[in-house]
Amino acid sequence: MTPLDTAPAVRSRPLLVDGFGRAVTYLRVSVTDRCDLRCVYCMSEHMTFLPKAQVLTLEELERLTGAFIDLGVRKVRITGGEPLVRKGVMDLFRALSRRMGSQGLDELTLTTNGTRLAEFAWPLYEAGVRRVNVSVDTLDPERFRRLTRGGDLGRVLAGLEAARAAGLSVKINAVALQDDNAADLPDLIAWAHGQGFDATLIEAMPMGEIDVDRTDQFLSLKTVREGLESFWTLEDLDLTTGGPARYVRVAETGGRLGFITPLSHNFCELCNRVRLTCTGTLHTCLGREDASDLRAVLRAGAGDAELHDAIRAAIGAKPQGHDFRIGRDAPPSVQRHMSTTGG
Ligand code: SAM
Ligand code: SF4
Repeated sequence: MTPLDTAPAVRSRPLLVDGFGRAVTYLRVSVTDRCDLRCVYCMSEHMTFLPKAQVLTLEELERLTGAFIDLGVRKVRITGGEPLVRKGVMDLFRALSRRMGSQGLDELTLTTNGTRLAEFAWPLYEAGVRRVNVSVDTLDPERFRRLTRGGDLGRVLAGLEAARAAGLSVKINAVALQDDNAADLPDLIAWAHGQGFDATLIEAMPMGEIDVDRTDQFLSLKTVREGLESFWTLEDLDLTTGGPARYVRVAETGGRLGFITPLSHNFCELCNRVRLTCTGTLHTCLGREDASDLRAVLRAGAGDAELHDAIRAAIGAKPQGHDFRIGRDAPPSVQRHMSTTGG
């Protein structure tokens, strides 16, 4: 009997439970550390990317992700780096889509910068993806070019059109930045809601060395929310995804707005997620240096049982919570970049 044959019987109870009793049902998989953009809060201008030998093949990524699904993970988000620049990435989507439904997975989704969505929206839909998160920090083409160090907003907007035409639901993610896009956020939110998209604002997190001091970038979402409340009515929604976002409905636009506040408030007690990097490293907390090397286990020829044991051991040691800090001269809370970990 394969692990899959046992799935229906065991799926009614969480199999991956950490030392604090939290069930882990959500896996984010970063399929590459590379990207066609260089967002100022995410990467330095001249990044050194991982040598190919360190990066898992798509087959290895599929096997590892499959092991998590065997163990009760019900939602997988493919991310990066920019996932759509990874050659052959649709093969991974198609392979994972075969694990949907009775095979264990409720949702297969993606976070992307949108530059290649025009090409990929329809194949993604065909592979069972129904929702995508697209990162857009401003609707001003010049500021977009500066923030992304060279990105073309027009391409992203064309990608969003293609996503809509393909039937994908879209959530716009924007990192709130003090000087760069604070003034653009109300227009961005109103535009997203006008398009029928949800929107989520994110506080910049101290991950990896970049070229600027994050103290200058950081903007508390408490301040942003107060600003929005001076002209909009924000109605709290009782909606939790097991993640750090808290949601409101904007009465005037009718749209949904999320706030991800890892610095001004963390919600670690509800955390249901872990992150797998493209090198097979499992990070059980975004804001800690903890790491388990699943590539070594995989490449040593582990069978499924051994792999499951390694995953269970890593989850068992998931830290209780993070302690992000941004301050003048403070080093990043974690050395790895968000593009390595997968946001
Ligand atoms: N390239 C894709 C994209 O931009 O959507 C996927 C990967 S990106 C690392 C995932 C998300 O992390 C994006 O929404 C991005 O804005 C966010 N992000 C990157 N660096 C961040 C940081 N230091 N703090 C907060 N969010 C960050
Ligand atoms: Fe690339 Fe996404 Fe990082 Fe921007 S946030 S540099 S698009 S990985």
